[in-house]
Amino acid sequence: MGSECKLCPVSCGADRTTQAGACGAAERVRVAKYGLHPYEEPCISYKNGSGTVFFSGCSLRCVFCQNHEISRAAVGEECDDERLIGIFRELEERGAENINLVTASHFAPQLLRVFAKYRPRIPVVYNTHSYERVEVLQALDKYIDVYLPDLKYFSPKVSLRYTGKANYFEYASRAVEFMAQREAEFDGEKMVRGCIVRHLILPLNVRDSEALIDWFAQKNFPAYFSLMSQYTPCGEIGDLPELQRRITRREYEKVLSHLLATGMERVFTQGYGSADEKFIPDFSEGKELF
Ligand code: SF4
Repeated sequence: MGSECKLCPVSCGADRTTQAGACGAAERVRVAKYGLHPYEEPCISYKNGSGTVFFSGCSLRCVFCQNHEISRAAVGEECDDERLIGIFRELEERGAENINLVTASHFAPQLLRVFAKYRPRIPVVYNTHSYERVEVLQALDKYIDVYLPDLKYFSPKVSLRYTGKANYFEYASRAVEFMAQREAEFDGEKMVRGCIVRHLILPLNVRDSEALIDWFAQKNFPAYFSLMSQYTPCGEIGDLPELQRRITRREYEKVLSHLLATGMERVFTQGYGSADEKFIPDFSEGKELF
C-alpha cells in the first residue's frame, strides 16, 4: 500500500493515508455489512450460513454489480484491528460455518496484521473477483482455507465494456491459476479447504462463457467449477441494452451443455430460474443481510 498504492492491477498510486484510491478505499478497513449468508454453495453455507464480511470499495467495479451500493462508495463501519477481530469472533459465536471475506484485496495489508493477532477457529474463505495481483494472494495464502474466486470475462472487449478494464483476464487467469491449485477437503459435506471457481452467465455473452469454460477445463485444476445463472439487472447498466434482462433458458442451456460436454466432474450448477432478488444482500442499516 505504502504512500503510492499499487496493491491491485489498477495501480492508481493513491496515497491512502490522505485520500481514497480508485477502489474507494482509504487507509482504514471499512466493513459495509456482515452476517450469516445462506445462499453460497451448499458446502460453504452448509447448515448455519457462511459468516460473510462485505468490505466496502472494489477495484474492478462491474457495471451490473449486485453489491453496487457498497462497491462504489465508502459506506459502512470503519474498523480498527480490534473491531475486525470482534466481528470475526461474533460470527463464530453465532455459529457461522466459516469467515467469508468478500472483496478484501484492497485491505490485504490490514488483514495480514489482523490474522497475525487472531486466527478464527473456523475456515477462512477468500471471496474475490480475481482482478488481483498474485503477490497479494501469496502473502495472504497461509491464512486462507477456501478460495471462492470469480472468473468473469474472457474477452478483453467484454471486460472493457462492463468494467472499463481490458486486462481483466490477463490478471484473473493468473490469480485463478494460483488459487485453483488447492485440493479440496471436506468435513462431512462442508468444504474446509479447497477452491470453487465461479462463473456468472451474462445475457448475450454465451461465447465468452464457453471460452472461459474451455480455458478452465484444459487446465485440469483440482478446483471445483460453479456455474451461476442468477444474473439480475441492477447497478449502473443504463446504456447497455443487453443487460436489461435476465438470461434466457436457451442461453443457460447452451452454456450448461458446453460445461457438461467438457467432462469436468467437480461442478456445481444453479438451476435456471435462480435469478431472484432474494439472493441479493440487503445493505440497508439495521436490517439482516437476507
Ligand atoms: S487497491 Fe485501490 S488504492 Fe490500491 S492500487 Fe488498487 S485501486 Fe488503487
